[in-house]
Order: sequence, then C-alpha cells, then structure tokens
Amino acid sequence: MTKPTILTIDDDPLVSAAITRDLVSQYGTAYRVIRASSGREALDVLTKLALRDEAVALIAADQRMPEMTGIEVLQQGRKQAPGAKMLLLTAYADTDVAIKAINDIGLDYYLLKPWDPPEERLYPIIDDLLDDWGKAHPHHTSDARVIGYRWSDRSHEIKMFLTRNHVPYRWYDVELDAEGERLRDLAHAAADDLPLVLVPDGETLRSPSTLGLAAALGLHTRAQQPLYDLCIVGGGPAGLAAAVYGASEGLSTVIVEREAPGGQAGMSAAIENYLGFPRGLSGSDLAHRAIAQVARFGAEMVLARHVVQFESRGPVRAVLFEDSGEIESRALVVASGMSYRRLEASGLSELTGRGIYYGAAVGEANQCHDDVVYVVGAANSAGQAALELSRFAKQVVLVVRAAALTETMSSYLIARITAASNIAVRYHTKIVAVHGSGHLEALTLADTETDATEEVASSWLFIFIGASPRTDWLGADVVRDERGFVVTGQDLLRVDAARWPLARSPLALETSVPGVFAAGDVRLNSMKRVASAVGEGAMSVSLVHRYLATI
Ligand SMILES: Cc1cc2nc3c(=O)[nH]c(=O)nc-3n(C[C@H](O)[C@H](O)[C@H](O)COP(=O)(O)OP(=O)(O)OC[C@H]3O[C@@H](n4cnc5c(N)ncnc54)[C@H](O)[C@@H]3O)c2cc1C
Repeated sequence: MTKPTILTIDDDPLVSAAITRDLVSQYGTAYRVIRASSGREALDVLTKLALRDEAVALIAADQRMPEMTGIEVLQQGRKQAPGAKMLLLTAYADTDVAIKAINDIGLDYYLLKPWDPPEERLYPIIDDLLDDWGKAHPHHTSDARVIGYRWSDRSHEIKMFLTRNHVPYRWYDVELDAEGERLRDLAHAAADDLPLVLVPDGETLRSPSTLGLAAALGLHTRAQQPLYDLCIVGGGPAGLAAAVYGASEGLSTVIVEREAPGGQAGMSAAIENYLGFPRGLSGSDLAHRAIAQVARFGAEMVLARHVVQFESRGPVRAVLFEDSGEIESRALVVASGMSYRRLEASGLSELTGRGIYYGAAVGEANQCHDDVVYVVGAANSAGQAALELSRFAKQVVLVVRAAALTETMSSYLIARITAASNIAVRYHTKIVAVHGSGHLEALTLADTETDATEEVASSWLFIFIGASPRTDWLGADVVRDERGFVVTGQDLLRVDAARWPLARSPLALETSVPGVFAAGDVRLNSMKRVASAVGEGAMSVSLVHRYLATI
C-alpha cells in the first residue's frame, strides 16, 4: 500500500525546505512528504493523488502566497482530499484570519512561524493531527482485522471495544466482502467462531471474550502491585483526572475500567463546551489525550475488568473483579459514572446490538450510508448523535415524546438540527415495538396524544434516553440515595448522619466509608458535565492526601 501523503505548500524556498525537512525527518517512514511551491501546483498534485485513489493525511499551507492564499488553497483542496487534516502556517499578524478560518473552512490548526524547536512547537501538533487522521482512516494504519456478520451483537461489541480503546481495525462482513469470506475459509472458522479477530502478530482469536481480546492486544488487564495508595474505579473524565492528579502528585495510582477509557464522554461526537477547545473536540480525542497524560505520569491502567464488589479490610480498601482478581489500596475513588437507561418497547431486548444501539452512534455512524436512521431522545446527547449520523445517513428521524426540544436540548444544537435538511423531528412520539428477524427491520411508533400507531421501515435505532448510576457493587456500607447516586460530604450528614463513623466530619467528596471518595456523575447532586467530572476527579486527589495524613 502506498504511504499516505503529507503535502506542504509554500512559495518561500527557505521556509518550504525547512518544513519539508522537519516533516520528513520525523514522519518519513510512515508518510510520503510532497512539496509544492504555489497553490496552483498543490491543487494539481491533489487532483493526481485523488485520481490514483491515494490518501492525503495532512496539507500544510503558508497563508501569505501570491495568487492564492493558504486558506484559499486549503478550501479548494478539500474537494480532492476531503478527509485530510488542514494546517495553516501563519505570521502573528494573520492570527484573526486563521481563527476565522476555523469556522469558515474547518481549519484544524494554525501554527505561528517559526516553529523552532520542532520537538516542542511542531511535532506535538502534527502527532495529534496524524493520530486523528489515522483513527478516521483505519485502512491506512490498520492493526487488527475483524471478520463477522454485520448484524451480530458480538461483532458490534468487539468493534466498539476496539474503537473505544483506539485500536485501529478493518471490518469484513462475511456476507458482503469476498475478502471476509476468504479469511473465514482460511481460518476454517465455523459459525460459532465468528467474529474472528486477527491481531498483528498473526494470532487468530475466535469469538474472543473482551478480556481475552484485551490481553491479546497487549492491553493491561492485571494490576502490577500488591497495594496502591489510590485505586480509582471508572476511566471516564472523573477517573482519568483523578489518575493524572494522583500520579503526578506522587501517589502510587491504579485505575480500573471495564470497557474503555473515556466513559460516556468517549461516546460524544463533539464536546463543544469544554474549556480550552474553541472548535470543540470529540470524546474519543479527549479520552486519547487523557490516556496519554495518565501514562506519562505513571498511573497504571487496568482494562477490561469489571469491578463487582467492594470490601473494607481494616485501613485497606479492596475492589474485586468479576473474573477473579482484586486490587487493594489505601484510598478509593469511585468514578463509575452512569450507564444508559433501557428503553421499554416490545421486542427490544432480542434486537439490541442487531441494529439497535445504546448511545453507540460514533462507532456505527459510517455504516448507515443511504439508510433512514431513527434516534430516540431529547437531550444534548441525542441531538449530537442525530447531527453526527446525518453526515452519513439518507435521513435521520429524531423521536421525541415532548412537544418541543427547548426544555431539554441546548439551543445551539436545536438550531443545527433545524437547519439540517436531512433531519426530521417527530414530536409527541414514542417507540412501542421493534420488529425484525435476525436484525432490526421496522419500528412501531405511537402518537403520545392520540395513541395512533404507525409502522416504519428502518434498520437502525440509536437510543439516548438518559442514564442512571450502577453502584450495586459498592454493597451496604457506602450510602446511596434511592436512585443509586453515592452520597458524599455534607449531603451525608443531611441524608443519614448516623452512618458516618468518625468524630471528624466527612471531607467534601468522602462517602460514608472513610477513605472512599466519589467523583463525577456517580455522585449525588453532581453537575453531569465533562468539566465538572474532571474538576471533581482532580479535587478528590487533594482530599485523598488529607485523608491519608490521618491514618
Ligand atoms: C453521548 C453523550 C454526549 C455528551 N456530551 C457532553 C458535552 O458535550 N458536554 C458535557 O459537558 N458533557 C457531555 N456529556 C456528559 C458527560 O459525558 C458526563 O457528564 C461525563 O462523562 C461524566 O464523567 P464520569 O467520569 O463521572 O463518568 P462516565 O463518563 O460515566 O465514566 C464512568 C466510567 O466508569 C466505568 N465503570 C462503571 N462501572 C464500572 C465497574 N463496576 N468497573 C469498572 N469500570 C466501571 C464505565 O465503563 C465508564 O467508562 C455527554 C454524555 C453523553 C452520553
């Protein structure tokens, strides 16, 4: 396979040589770096590459060029290289123009010249851009191959696991792809063996468990130490923040995650209200950055492990895993967030994972090409999913029980949904039944005012109807409210003061068990936002320090 291209465009021979030299030295083994000295020449190169079906990963253009500006070249280049990342090289005086280009042409980044030293000012930016591009174009950077049936729930789970753990893969449908059929036959795989997962070192996994798959991919599934200062359950924004602050402030820290780091936020197509990212960023990008930070500070991450029990053993806090194994620590942060609430509709459980998905739009969106897709829900998560899906689907129908979205969805999302020509909103509507043999084929919709029903054909239903905490594993000692949210700090004294065992008051995020803290969505009265979860995760570490000083 030809290497993907990085194209640099600059009319100044010295700058052009410098950027090309720096890019070749760092990325030359994986990418081909091509240099153009004008906008016209660059567009010719892009046309040739498009005709040869060769991938362009990044276009870096200087803003100040005669005939065409960098922004003009990038705008026109989008047609030939639609998925390529766009970088503008600017002088300080062009900053306003560059910021405007973020909105106008979807510019990914602008870089002020000069960029010396490149290790600090150029490569981290290019690494991020190429990393994002690689994830969106797994055919060019594939690590694993998954072979199975399109409508198999296990295939879906495995693809979700790989996507959310940032493992690039190629998907082959044995019914649609000759290559899928060939690989299945080569592996002599029976129906029960599917999905097959072929990992880079040549191992063939037959319908692997999540734990088996994680281990085969080299992900850490076991803790390395007998006792930690801090154990964190849950790798969403709250848990990841706690891990970064814990490890960076000298605590031996381990974080346990049952699915994939990122949590609910990892499923968001675009988080637009998180400070510091004016263009917004995808949940997957946020998770990816956070994981790198966790690793950099030396926190251990144990993946594909489901915590099912909590025990206090004197001053030690222990969490036990579903498939045997446990972790002991001196303090515990519960950051296990929330999980999707189930939709009540006849036939739903049999078809879940076979065309019906809870919040999985990010992973499945690009498979809905030219289909009519239903999304149920009225909050921001449903709105984001509808917009993401509308990029691929023929039509998206948002099913909403209420008469309007204004009470539940942010106005910027409502405006975008209204403006999208292929999104329809059905108010006063609920889904009462789903139908299909082997996979979803039709839905029965009911008018909530008249009870009139209508059957519509569709193979895709994405459900975003809220979430609730799953905290049963905490047992009887950790006080929760009637919905399962963990009660902390002053709330504990208000709700059930008799359950607090010490003379001192509980610390702000401390639960009814001293040394056990809760952060993020799992906590009673939390704000249910990425920023607040991150804030609480960070804050929990300072409280852990105060607690550890008392024992
Ligand atoms: C689709 C979607 C879009 C959103 N968009 C936005 C947005 O634009 N802006 C915004 O501010 N907020 C947004 N939110 C809300 C935001 O994502 C959450 O508030 C935030 O993720 C909460 O973080 P958390 O760490 O507390 O919990 P979670 O994100 O729920 O993470 C908890 C983690 O714990 C793991 N876990 C749970 N139980 C166990 C167990 N027993 N053992 C091991 N691991 C366990 C889970 O697998 C999960 O990874 C969105 C949510 C969704 C679903």
